[in-house]
Amino acid sequence: MISRIDLRGAAFPEGGIDRDLLPRADFDVEAALEAVRPICEDVRHRGSVAVLDHGERFDGVRPASLRVPQEALTTALAELDPAVRAALEESVRRARIVHREQRRTDVTTQVVPGGTVTERWVPVERVGLYVPGGLAAYASSVVMNVVPAQEAGVEGIAVASPAQKETGGLPAPAILAACALLGVTEVYAAGGAQAVAMFAYGTEDCRPVNLVTGPGNIYVAAAKRLLKGRVGIDAEAGPTEIAILADDSADPAFVAADLISQAEHDTLAAAVLVTTSPELADAVDKELDVQVAAAKHRERITAALSGRQSATVLVDTLDQGLAVVDAYAAEHLEIQTEDAAAVAARVRNAGAVFVGPHAPVSLGDYCAGSNHVLPTGGCACHSSGLSVQSFLRGIHVVDYSRDALAEVAPHVVTLANAEDLPAHGEAVRVRFGGAR
Ligand code: NAD
Repeated sequence: MISRIDLRGAAFPEGGIDRDLLPRADFDVEAALEAVRPICEDVRHRGSVAVLDHGERFDGVRPASLRVPQEALTTALAELDPAVRAALEESVRRARIVHREQRRTDVTTQVVPGGTVTERWVPVERVGLYVPGGLAAYASSVVMNVVPAQEAGVEGIAVASPAQKETGGLPAPAILAACALLGVTEVYAAGGAQAVAMFAYGTEDCRPVNLVTGPGNIYVAAAKRLLKGRVGIDAEAGPTEIAILADDSADPAFVAADLISQAEHDTLAAAVLVTTSPELADAVDKELDVQVAAAKHRERITAALSGRQSATVLVDTLDQGLAVVDAYAAEHLEIQTEDAAAVAARVRNAGAVFVGPHAPVSLGDYCAGSNHVLPTGGCACHSSGLSVQSFLRGIHVVDYSRDALAEVAPHVVTLANAEDLPAHGEAVRVRFGGAR
């Protein structure tokens, strides 16, 4: 079901291994860009009607209004299964504990007597949070988007999630309930690229936002890439990925279950096992056969596991395994080896690292306290997952007295002249009796 890439005996150069040797998706964000470009343009020109038209095309339903009425939110929370409510509340509680600690405090540095620079952290004014609702309805993604935004102090929080046929055009009830639980009142029944464009350009129903965050499928990730600049985005958080670095101490049943748990998201999800143990690889293959056959979403899982984006990679040593997972830069990386914490400490590129046999990715998906909106497609080598910091901007506040400016004025003038920008120097000299 899952293919093998045998890198035993391959060259592992100092500068990292050739990425072409790693599993790769056939259909990537680059390819999806062409599909979403006309959708985003249409929303820009025709506004809410275009959002509704494209929603109807992809989701098979046209909501009565893009904005979800307040009573639908209240009703969804009232009707939420008490066990799901309790689980969501625990998820929120743990996420808050972790995210509250992330808030950076303002720092004032005295550069010279009378001269200070303060880094002031200011929340983004208005954000659009995307919550997926295609193949599954991600109430957990409401928590993962909203909690850090609230902890950062964002005042304008809008949520969008695809309309569902079963509810006559409202987003999934659990998503509405999670919004109500967290006190979010501005919710839109819109999904995919058209929802991202609605947030970026604004429409008659939705004021534009400053920042769009949240996970989604490949079209959502492509729309974020396309509209970046017009609007701020978090990292691209597209179809999920799991990489597991394992040796012969790993339990094949755990490894298989974790690969399957992420393959369940999407036919484009990637599941990669990197191991020093061919015996483990064989045992995982057997476990996959048994566990996939018993899985509810076995068709989707089989498609994901047998796609070019998924593979078992055999290496000779753990060092080589680390080189492979660093080059792959997975959204989720599990370390299931002897002395897993020490191995995890050596990882350079991953959205989140899960250490040892008792930290499966699904724990992080829901209730670890960590955030599950994480960079995919190799973006983990330059970007971080969603956090309080994603919703803040650091503003440098420069405060110098006359004496402090006088002390450094000659250097400013010299540098200005060296760059042939004499007016820069004049702006300093004029304060000390220079030419008027
Ligand atoms: P979704 O809400 O992301 O996407 C559904 C929307 O996709 C539809 O409303 C439609 O507008 C659009 N769409 C569907 N087919 C299209 C096409 N051919 N052309 C243009 N647009 C199209 O829901 P989903 O599909 O269930 O995907 C959820 C995704 O989110 C999964 O891939 C999952 O792995 C991912 N995810 C990622 C993270 C992360 O942090 N990286 C976290 C959770 C979920």
